[in-house]
Amino acid sequence: MKAYLDNGATTRVDPRVVKVMKPFFTKHYGNPSSLHSWGRTAREAVEKARKTIADKIGAKPQEIIFTSGGTESDNLAIKGVALKKGKGHIITSKIEHHAVLNTCKSLEKKGFKVTYLPVDTEGFVKTNHLKRALRDNTILVSIMHANNEIGTIQPIKEFYKICRKNKVLFHTDAVQSFTKTSLKAASADLISLSSHKIHGPKGVGALYVKDNVRLEPVLHGGGHESGLRAGTENAPGVIGFAKAVELCREPHIKEMTKLRDYLIKEVKKIDGSRINGPLKKRLCNNLNASFEGVEGESLLLQLDAEGIAVSTGSACSSKELEPSHVLTAIGLRPEQSHGTIRATISRFTTKEEIDYFLKNLREIIKKLRSMNPL
Ligand code: PLP
Repeated sequence: MKAYLDNGATTRVDPRVVKVMKPFFTKHYGNPSSLHSWGRTAREAVEKARKTIADKIGAKPQEIIFTSGGTESDNLAIKGVALKKGKGHIITSKIEHHAVLNTCKSLEKKGFKVTYLPVDTEGFVKTNHLKRALRDNTILVSIMHANNEIGTIQPIKEFYKICRKNKVLFHTDAVQSFTKTSLKAASADLISLSSHKIHGPKGVGALYVKDNVRLEPVLHGGGHESGLRAGTENAPGVIGFAKAVELCREPHIKEMTKLRDYLIKEVKKIDGSRINGPLKKRLCNNLNASFEGVEGESLLLQLDAEGIAVSTGSACSSKELEPSHVLTAIGLRPEQSHGTIRATISRFTTKEEIDYFLKNLREIIKKLRSMNPL
């Protein structure tokens, strides 16, 4: 048996998505900017896809800018505002994805000032902290909708209200929450979306840009995507993205929530376990848990040997075991962070897979603890 529980990292592409993409590689392969029939067919499909995505969040089609994914959307939103304004102060949170954090850091090197708001023990940004951080020269607030590690869903509508009152633009990274919450365009000026988290292809995303918001493009070239994102549109990709959006339905949220709650309930029963992130206002597909006396990496590798995919609470892309900045921000000690795993389900996850995971999790934790001299 196998259990893929790393849907927060990426998801299986729905076969129905692959099916609609295929003809745009081999038959309707025209450049959407070309005037001939091949081009027109591709253009028509790209614009239909744009409308599908816009409709999902209650936006206008011209407010959707296609990008290469969540990372590029975050870059375009933040750098786009910063470079347009030229100078000023930006507010974000300590638990953002690196696509936001490192974009802000790069702007600090260019002279922009950035405030990184703290979060409480469940990962929530306090509205009072946001209000107090605002300055006369604040140009942008960027706070993610749902956290990718611990699933915290932020009250973005409240944040947006504060921003509007203070005439500051508000961006939210909704890569994890899109289609898993009732995300609406009315909740922000700029919203980052990504396709591969929702059973669409990798390397495709979108930025919602409210129609009165002006951005400086990050990529220069032709006048594609209303002049905001130069480069031939990835027609098969955006068509697949739109199909993936179409296939995400309301009942899936309920089904995933039920499975997630079962997963959390069972994990809580394990001695020395701790659930990270809130129990309410949490992504419907996310479990994040720490286990005393256990090393997350060992747990991950042993689960992998049993055909189970999860991720850890450590950002080990640098090959060094840095504790996760999110877990540190909610107050976990480094040894707790190192004993953490994240399991993220999808609409394809079954109860049998969850039970298979739980059985192995209990056994491996027992084994690892018996080997731990401490
Ligand atoms: N933002 C969040 C919250 C994410 O979880 C991710 C992906 O893990 C990204 C941005 C980056 O998205 P992409 O992989 O499409 O570049």
